[in-house]
Amino acid sequence: MNTKDKGFNTKLIHAGSFEDEFGSATVPIYQTSTFRFKNAQHGADCFSGKSNGFIYTRIANPTIRALEQTVAELENGYDGIATSSGMGAISTVYMALLGASQHIISSDAVYGPARGLLEQDFSRFNVEASFVNTSDSANILAALRPNTKVLYIETPANPTMNITDIAACAKIARDNNLLLVVDNTFSSPYLQKPLDFGADVVLHSVTKFINGHADIVGGIIVAKDPEIYKRIRHSMVYMGSNMDPTQAFMVIRGLKTLAIRIERAQQNAMEVAQFLLSHPKVAWIKYPGLKSHPQYDLAQKQMKGFGSMMSFGLKGGYEAGRKLMDNVHLAVLAVSLGGVETLIQHPASMTHAGMSQENKQSAGITDDLVRFSVGIEDVEDIISDLNESLKTI
Ligand SMILES: *Cc1c(COP(=O)(O)O)cnc(C)c1O
Repeated sequence: MNTKDKGFNTKLIHAGSFEDEFGSATVPIYQTSTFRFKNAQHGADCFSGKSNGFIYTRIANPTIRALEQTVAELENGYDGIATSSGMGAISTVYMALLGASQHIISSDAVYGPARGLLEQDFSRFNVEASFVNTSDSANILAALRPNTKVLYIETPANPTMNITDIAACAKIARDNNLLLVVDNTFSSPYLQKPLDFGADVVLHSVTKFINGHADIVGGIIVAKDPEIYKRIRHSMVYMGSNMDPTQAFMVIRGLKTLAIRIERAQQNAMEVAQFLLSHPKVAWIKYPGLKSHPQYDLAQKQMKGFGSMMSFGLKGGYEAGRKLMDNVHLAVLAVSLGGVETLIQHPASMTHAGMSQENKQSAGITDDLVRFSVGIEDVEDIISDLNESLKTI
């Protein structure tokens, strides 16, 4: 079925239009490394592109293609490229879009390794990087250099929940001949479609909301333009950052419930946020659905809902945060996010521990910041778990 003009939930179930010769109702796992050519001419045609037959799983595979085409449709993009992990997606995009002596401007509060990869590795190949608070466009304009090629943003950002105006960034990118890349992991295409606001490339850690069940790692990239898509696919195939067919099968299965999972989780998140907002031991809370969030209006403009991610600080600072994490029972003390289960973690000592104190400070990753990913459990139980553990502080 062609799902191009259908609703989001219908796309989740039917996009990708997968068909095989057996009439499989779902997309099977094509667990094969290589594909048999019919004859020498067919093999030659597959390599020259005259035939779109499959060749080798690192290049393309039917299970993986079904996922790529589905997510591309959800993001309103040209086509997708699935990768081994979210970092596989990020490193592939950097490799495809950056060259020696070129410059990238990135949000200062991005996923830790997305920053570390530029600072510690791409810097060895003379790729220059500036990290600024992209929530204020003036910072981006001030960071522009003649050799700037890419503007890379994450919104809402990890773990500060800062929001960046995608349309404003797209305008800066157009005016200055840059490509705009958006890490859309925190929102998923259900809540936010960056390509519709003018971004060139959108990427995800599908480990999080898209798969949603905390049982695989994976990544995906969607490009708006065929030429850029080809450049990125080339880098994925040559670097070998491909997804595996079984991973793709799991993600296809998890993806079908994306909208109902997010609806439930963000409903829970709003109640949890209200609870924390009025709690005497909570110093501050940042959730895009609260009017107190500095970019509440922008969140409403570019997101369909406020999601289920939040960060908050306790009046007792770092030690109080540790105490909270040691005393929750329902919330799982673990990194990652966007799964059906509620997760809690402390970025300063965990995910962002590798960042210098100075960089953490300027990016707003304070020592008291607790990151909370609200799951789809009964909200009374999530709140009572927080309430009991807050009593121990
Ligand atoms: C987890 C995450 C990544 C990295 O994804 P992996 O699948 O762990 O490699 C990138 N960006 C964001 C926003 C993330 O949360």
